[in-house]
Amino acid sequence: MTTDKKSYYLTTPLYYVNGKPHIGHAYTTVVADTLARYHRLKGEDVFFLTGTDEHGQKVEGEARSRGVKTQELVDEMALEFKDVWQKLGITFDRFIRTTESAHIDTVQKLIRKIYDNGYIYPGDYQGWYCTPCETYWTEEQMDEGKVCPDCKRPTAMLSEKSYFFKLSAFAEPLLRLIEKNPNFVRPATRLNEIVSFIKMGLNDLSISRSSFEWGIPVPFDEDYIIYVWFDALINYISGVDYLNEGDVFKKYWPADVHLIGKDIIKFHAVIWPAMLMAAGLEPPKQIYAHGWWTTAGGKMSKSRGNVIDPMNVVDEYGVDIFRYFILREIPFGLDGSFTKEALILRTNADLANDLGNLLHRSGAMLKKYSASRLTRTISSHPDDRELIKRAVNLPGKVDEKMADLQFSLALKEIWEVIGLANKYIDTMAPWKLFKSGQHDRLDEVMYNIFELLRIVCIMISPFIPGTAEELWSRIGNSDSLAKQTFANAGEWGKLPYSATVSVKDPLFPRIEV
Ligand SMILES: [Zn+2]
Repeated sequence: MTTDKKSYYLTTPLYYVNGKPHIGHAYTTVVADTLARYHRLKGEDVFFLTGTDEHGQKVEGEARSRGVKTQELVDEMALEFKDVWQKLGITFDRFIRTTESAHIDTVQKLIRKIYDNGYIYPGDYQGWYCTPCETYWTEEQMDEGKVCPDCKRPTAMLSEKSYFFKLSAFAEPLLRLIEKNPNFVRPATRLNEIVSFIKMGLNDLSISRSSFEWGIPVPFDEDYIIYVWFDALINYISGVDYLNEGDVFKKYWPADVHLIGKDIIKFHAVIWPAMLMAAGLEPPKQIYAHGWWTTAGGKMSKSRGNVIDPMNVVDEYGVDIFRYFILREIPFGLDGSFTKEALILRTNADLANDLGNLLHRSGAMLKKYSASRLTRTISSHPDDRELIKRAVNLPGKVDEKMADLQFSLALKEIWEVIGLANKYIDTMAPWKLFKSGQHDRLDEVMYNIFELLRIVCIMISPFIPGTAEELWSRIGNSDSLAKQTFANAGEWGKLPYSATVSVKDPLFPRIEV
């Protein structure tokens, strides 16, 4: 288990199983998958955790309304999430479920530790409770109508004995943590939000429930179960075997990044690190919050009935078109609009025209000029210098953007090089070289194009892996794509002597509207 490789541990949130996987889930998970594949390409020892959050009143209620056992419902929903991830080509290393015994034991271990350290105490809780959100709200957080600030449904005054987590003790430690690590929360707007939230003062948090049964018992008082958020967050350490605190935990914890949607930032950037500090554990290195996809009717939500089902998009257009669109369309961290029009525009421009056409036209020329065979020549022609330099520098450029999870900008760098290659063909006009019998120069030009495509192919592989595999098989490589590394991606001249390019249908046919 222990290797010298740098480790990289990343997570998605655990998805709550009271509804089907939607575009928000798919977005976080595709982003995480791309990041995982990217760090594997860099030769790191990656651990990618995702899974399902299966406890709480909402799940219990959903099962009751469907007339099935709660365990049956969560089993079925966990399978549904796994199915969707398989179709999206998600390469998680572990799919964790909060109803697993290892997770339950871990939660109890951590809660016990926080309790023993004096940060959990019994008290009386009175407050305005939103049942769908399983959240208490203070009067200050709500408007006149006493409706839930999140879901806008009415709250009800509840009073119960409860166990509290002493969150108030962690305001100062959290601010110190952020001061020491200004990238603890990304993007910066979210960091500012969190800092002002902490500075307003933190209230202790009720972490037990007694009004329903579907949850993990409080280890020192079995009349209570643990608040679903407290339970779910702990997956990030139960997924790397905090239970045994062995090699796996030592290798991967603290996590490099928790990827989340911006709506759950307080749980991740305030409550979770405070829980860890209370247990004497290190907080994660980074929380990165992304924006929301909106559609014509505003924010997508089940209640508004404007949810885009990612599987329909994948069935209609294919998985890589979906992946490329959501990764390229908006800067990571901001909100974006998901429309079919935008997806078609993006696909036709970038995938069909720029990349697809580059491969197709150069493949057709090579077929005509040299029976699809390349001749390996390392050019020192002054007209090739810029092209080669840009191709060789591409991995470094992509890496700069990926260091801050700027997927969109990383793809933009790759597509600039693709655009340069298309211009290079126009300028070099291989058809003229062929006509005038300049065969050595023609060989150089053609080799340059395909060698550039080799580098492009490796660099797109974390983003659109299926396309990269197909491209790789067409440009005549003798090695497999899986064997390629980031370190030698940019070495010029790796395409073998007399590689044979196969000319087939376009990679991406234009989508007609
Ligand atoms: Zn609510």
